[in-house]
Amino acid sequence: MQLEKFDVIVVGGGPAGMMAAGKAAETGASVALVEKNDRLGVKLAITGKGRCNLTHMEKDPLKLVDPFGRNGRFLLSSLSRFGVEDTLEFFRSRGVATKVERGSRVFPETGLNSEDVVNALSDFMFEGKVKIFTATTARGLTVSDGKITGIVTDRGTMSASSVIVTTGGMSYPGTGSTGDGYSWAKDTGHRIVGPEPAICPVKTEETWCSELQGLTLRNVSLSLWRGGKRVSDRFGEMLFTHFGISGPIVMDMAKEIGASLTKGPSTLFLDLKPALDKGKLNARILRDLEAHRRELLKNGLKDLLPRAIIPVIMEAAGIPAETRVDEVTKEQRKDLIEAVKSLPITPTGFLGYRWSVITSGGVSLKDVDPKTMASKKTAGLFFAGEILDLDGPTGGYNLQVCWSTGYVAGNEAGLYAKGGSEKNPSSAS
Ligand SMILES: Cc1cc2nc3c(=O)[nH]c(=O)nc-3n(C[C@H](O)[C@H](O)[C@H](O)COP(=O)(O)OP(=O)(O)OC[C@H]3O[C@@H](n4cnc5c(N)ncnc54)[C@H](O)[C@@H]3O)c2cc1C
Repeated sequence: MQLEKFDVIVVGGGPAGMMAAGKAAETGASVALVEKNDRLGVKLAITGKGRCNLTHMEKDPLKLVDPFGRNGRFLLSSLSRFGVEDTLEFFRSRGVATKVERGSRVFPETGLNSEDVVNALSDFMFEGKVKIFTATTARGLTVSDGKITGIVTDRGTMSASSVIVTTGGMSYPGTGSTGDGYSWAKDTGHRIVGPEPAICPVKTEETWCSELQGLTLRNVSLSLWRGGKRVSDRFGEMLFTHFGISGPIVMDMAKEIGASLTKGPSTLFLDLKPALDKGKLNARILRDLEAHRRELLKNGLKDLLPRAIIPVIMEAAGIPAETRVDEVTKEQRKDLIEAVKSLPITPTGFLGYRWSVITSGGVSLKDVDPKTMASKKTAGLFFAGEILDLDGPTGGYNLQVCWSTGYVAGNEAGLYAKGGSEKNPSSAS
């Protein structure tokens, strides 16, 4: 059954898709948005623990793209057309004022949350009369003579001069992001990098990690070592879970941990007191032990360390659990300092897409024009958002990708559709 004909069809009603659909409509194109869930922005609604860290306050585009690694430069063109300031103004003008929090993370102002962000995007699409098809699953693209002609859905076919694929990655598949767009991209000649889960919790060999489940550590540092060399490190907050370790510094390091594990056995070293060098830590322990000199060592350490981790530290230092403070030798104190400063944790892998915040890899940037988000393989086909081979750390970077690439893809797909099929922005190669 032929549903309807549009200038532009956007597949996927996440942040990139909603921005793209609204922008395409602004060019005067007739636009349809197809989303398999029965509502839009299911993942967007849970971002930032429901508060939505919608961008990162960094005005210098070069600094903003730096954490994306080598692929970051792909973003410079779209950021120059719709950057952080434009994003803030876009949401402010639709009732979502923002504030900058710790680590330059931008959130909606107090009293507003991620649902308000979803509503702002819905308003944008409403203004442009975007026709929204929820509970509609796209099954594939239709292409004729190297040009896009529309899509096939579970409710029938839809035709259009341009199609923007914004189906996201594979993380949190319960939100609808199940990687559907990758196979369509592959079928139309695009290379797919990876994909791999990124920004995700890490499984560990040590069972004590799971025994400490629920314990959060603040202001600690974690360093990754392989073959006697320090590969990477982070400072901040982490936590122990039933399978291993999680929390901001672990999640942000996950990609490097994964890469390191493919090259050889790797170890994480946890420094529980990064602000104290070994000399200062020794002095601090001596003071604490003096204050508790008639007690068991485990009590003597309770002002220095969270109670739950003390048995782990003592075991790592080879000190019997019932040792009294007045029995501690100088050698044991040295071992204790070593355990506090570099407690080894062995990463074994990840929990998988179910718990990963983002998917690394995706449609190869070599096959997409950074100025237009147009495919270099199929005329009239565009990509935006997490489906692209771009992944940044936590902090609002990944949603900024959606706003910038969505805006550009929407604009260019709209212009392409209205300019007629002979005008091909994809410069197919
Ligand atoms: C728990 C969590 C918290 C996060 N917090 C933040 C944060 O605070 N800040 C930040 O910058 N980033 C955050 N992220 C990352 C951010 O949410 C993603 O980068 C972003 O949602 C990607 O947007 P997208 O539009 O590309 O894809 P998605 O948001 O994945 O949307 C894709 C849409 O396409 C639909 N779809 C898929 N296949 C089909 C099909 N066949 N037919 C029709 N529809 C289809 C899906 O149902 C989905 O609605 C978080 C991610 C998670 C999981």
